[in-house]
Amino acid sequence: MMKSLLRAFSTALLGGAMLLAGTVGAVAADGKIGLKFLGHATFEVTSPGGTTILLDPFLSKNPKTPEEYKDIGQYQPDAILVTHSHFDHVADAEAIAKASGAPIIGAYEHAGAMDVPKDQQKGGNVGGKYQVGDVTVHYVPAMHSSDPGGRPVGFVLEFNDGRTLYDTGDTWIFGDMALIEEIHSPDIVLLQAGGGPYNQDPEIARMAIDKYFDPEVVVPMHYGTFGVLASDADVEAALADHPAVRIMQPGDSAEF
Ligand SMILES: [Zn+2]
Repeated sequence: MMKSLLRAFSTALLGGAMLLAGTVGAVAADGKIGLKFLGHATFEVTSPGGTTILLDPFLSKNPKTPEEYKDIGQYQPDAILVTHSHFDHVADAEAIAKASGAPIIGAYEHAGAMDVPKDQQKGGNVGGKYQVGDVTVHYVPAMHSSDPGGRPVGFVLEFNDGRTLYDTGDTWIFGDMALIEEIHSPDIVLLQAGGGPYNQDPEIARMAIDKYFDPEVVVPMHYGTFGVLASDADVEAALADHPAVRIMQPGDSAEF
């Protein structure tokens, strides 16, 4: 009941969602969830209460990151979340953690191996959670690899207005996505659609949304960065006609 009321409320807000330009950390508050796409699988999320969370930071050497966002000195997140240990998800995690003092939240083995002070290593595992400001960060499964680094994970961010954002991480579609929907009912999905040798094709990403989820917003990610990945055209062909899908370009911001 509460969830459906919140959903109606968020739908109303979505009607007024807008794209903004601005500096990192500037998208904020006033009861809205801010989302800045920084290229590939890197996003900065700002909670309704102003907590900032950096997802899978790959910035300084990311060919898709706009020039003005490559300087890692500008990032002051409250936490850095890493889904697995591959370079295109962690390249700048340690440097940003050292510069900002932010904790790194990841799989137990992965976070524990990070070259940052012990009190910034926040390891966990599927089913576990951390509180970061007004955001509860839940670990969920992902079907991929992470070596070294324990296991790959996805994350569900639960905001204090009841809304949730699911970062799939790198993954193929899997049946337990039904449980992620049952338990967390994601309102916003950051959707792996990278295809190529490593991840699900955009068509399978579409199937995951159609089969398992009922979100208000779906942002495809992790495509077009390297030649082996799905192209912008591939992603548009498979996903753009879905009413919840929003194609974001690196550097774009949105509020929900
Ligand atoms: Zn990746």
